[in-house]
Amino acid sequence: MTDQSSLLDAMEESQADEVYNLAAQSFVGDSWIIPVSTGEVDGLGVTRLLEAIRRVRPAARFYQAATSEMYGQVHEVPQSETTPFHPRSPYGVAKVYGFYITLNYRESYGIHASNGILFNHESPRRGLEFVTRKITDGVARIKLGKAKDLRLGNLDSKRDWGFAGDYVEGMWRMLQQEAPGDYILATGETHTVREFCEIAFSHVGLDFEQFVICDERFSRPAEVDLLLGDPSKAKRVLGWEPKVNFRQLVEMMVDSDVARLLGS
Ligand code: GDP
Repeated sequence: MTDQSSLLDAMEESQADEVYNLAAQSFVGDSWIIPVSTGEVDGLGVTRLLEAIRRVRPAARFYQAATSEMYGQVHEVPQSETTPFHPRSPYGVAKVYGFYITLNYRESYGIHASNGILFNHESPRRGLEFVTRKITDGVARIKLGKAKDLRLGNLDSKRDWGFAGDYVEGMWRMLQQEAPGDYILATGETHTVREFCEIAFSHVGLDFEQFVICDERFSRPAEVDLLLGDPSKAKRVLGWEPKVNFRQLVEMMVDSDVARLLGS
């Protein structure tokens, strides 16, 4: 994403009809440690990819992975496509740039470019640095006697967590529309990190309060306290709805981590 020639070559060689830009430094916590490269990849990288599309294959359809982190210090609850942005991390700031350059290439050159404003989307494939997977991996380790406790930061923050598999279908639906647009994908429910812990531990018969330790090391310089998306536009226009609910998601991730550790 930092090299223009590579992106031009990728478009030349693939002659892609649809381009999904999921490339990013996507961990919010690390974006304070590497703010410049986060901006290069998550912000300017989007311009490079759009330039490659414009020059090589302007009829290709483009999906930009925007994010609920653009709402940051939320101006209203729930957040919709018209809620003002107020990012709270170098990651969120870079993604706001990516959002607007996507909109700009749509308006400047008529490229079929859409932004998906996805709220947190999780699955057993989630990286271990994210809180959901850190919790389900921790639960599995504790259950199997491989760990004694789980150290986390802010348990009070609230997220609108959905299943990544459902969200990928929504992304694809955006590019099948006749006209490009910007859409929120979310469940319309919000839960605390604490609730995630409660369900994950109780699924294997444990009480989270006996194992979770709050550790300042995992707190952030600026926190996003609450995210809750309004997915009604996606439902109305794309006919999209999430199929996996919060409890099913947590249990799916715990089951997968227990099975993985049993097999290792
Ligand atoms: P994000 O919403 O993209 O930042 O996704 P994360 O899974 O990284 O974080 C979700 C929320 O969990 C944030 O409010 C974090 O501050 C909070 N959190 C609490 N403890 C932890 C932790 O140990 N690791 C991470 N990654 N997040 C934590």
